Amino acid sequence: MGKLGYRLAQMMVGRYGFDQFSRDLLAYGMILSICDIFIPGGIVKFIGTLLIIFAIYRMFSRNHAKMRLQLDWYRTYIDGPLRSWLARDRKNYCYFKCPTCKQVQKAPKGRGRIRVTCHKCGNVFEKKV
Ligand SMILES: [Zn+2]
Repeated sequence: MGKLGYRLAQMMVGRYGFDQFSRDLLAYGMILSICDIFIPGGIVKFIGTLLIIFAIYRMFSRNHAKMRLQLDWYRTYIDGPLRSWLARDRKNYCYFKCPTCKQVQKAPKGRGRIRVTCHKCGNVFEKKV
């Protein structure tokens, strides 16, 4: 390791470093900065730059507990729901919400009009799938 590498390693001692949230913030920031080409006004690039700055701030932070809480929040409210939404099998299943509790339900496509019983609240309703 060279002198620069050593200094860099010394600078990162005690810092939080890189995690999934920082990685995704950088990715979203770069995507927004690229989208700025198609959307005039500069607000998209501004938000993208803020995301990148926040990712860098997280990497250099010494407050590990706070960064860990932010990572948990991100996984619970952003990444988890986004991944489950992206993983839906829309070719074979129809997705809809319970009218009472908004719990997401799924049923095989092509069954016509079906009677659905909500797993969460027990509400019975009809749905065309
Ligand atoms: Zn329900």
